[in-house]
Amino acid sequence: MGRKDANQRTDHVLAAIRDAIIARRLRPGQRLRELELAELFGVSRTIIRAVLQQLATAGLVRIEANKGASVDLPSHDEIAGLFQARAIIEMGIVARLCSTTHPDLIQRLRAHIELEQSAIDASDYRQAIALLGEFHILLAQAAENESVNAFYRSLVLRTSLIVSAIEAPADSTCRTEEHSELLDLIEKGNVQAASMCVWNHLQEIQTSLRVAAEKGEQDYHPLQHLFLRESLAK
Ligand SMILES: [Zn+2]
Repeated sequence: MGRKDANQRTDHVLAAIRDAIIARRLRPGQRLRELELAELFGVSRTIIRAVLQQLATAGLVRIEANKGASVDLPSHDEIAGLFQARAIIEMGIVARLCSTTHPDLIQRLRAHIELEQSAIDASDYRQAIALLGEFHILLAQAAENESVNAFYRSLVLRTSLIVSAIEAPADSTCRTEEHSELLDLIEKGNVQAASMCVWNHLQEIQTSLRVAAEKGEQDYHPLQHLFLRESLAK
């Protein structure tokens, strides 16, 4: 097998496992055994090892010395810490936005909310999660502080990854009506109510993720049923 061929196989297996995690066909905590995966995909264990390493770097897989690889399940403390960091930054951003008028921003975010709703109505889970997370990123961009933007963006992306990886319905995590309510409060310049809205919004997401994560820990699905047939046939 040539290097190009090996690279193609690695890319294919990587995409198949990553998609299975994102689409929740593989649950957090699910063991990923090298030998089983190598047989399942008809590739060497070296390729599987390389793929698992890449997924670990992306934060989707956890590799432990004696236990091997499993779909990464963030601990409750990690989830709580992530949301606390988001709340602290986002309350500051919102307070800043309340102090000046931003008609263009409000208009842009209202249009974004319509996209969120369309994705939810169409049951487009991946698109909905991406758009719901992007709302917060757009909000942070309006604060026009590059350091804050970059840091906040990484926090939101990590959250979206967790939402995707855990059995959590998109519309029970970030609610579009709460995004709408937040924009109304920013428009009115009501700092206190807008900050509370952000805090409650993020607390609610954290709670539903926690509930979903606990449910995910209890479930078990045999590996062979979790990959789509067409992704194996390629
Ligand atoms: Zn939200």
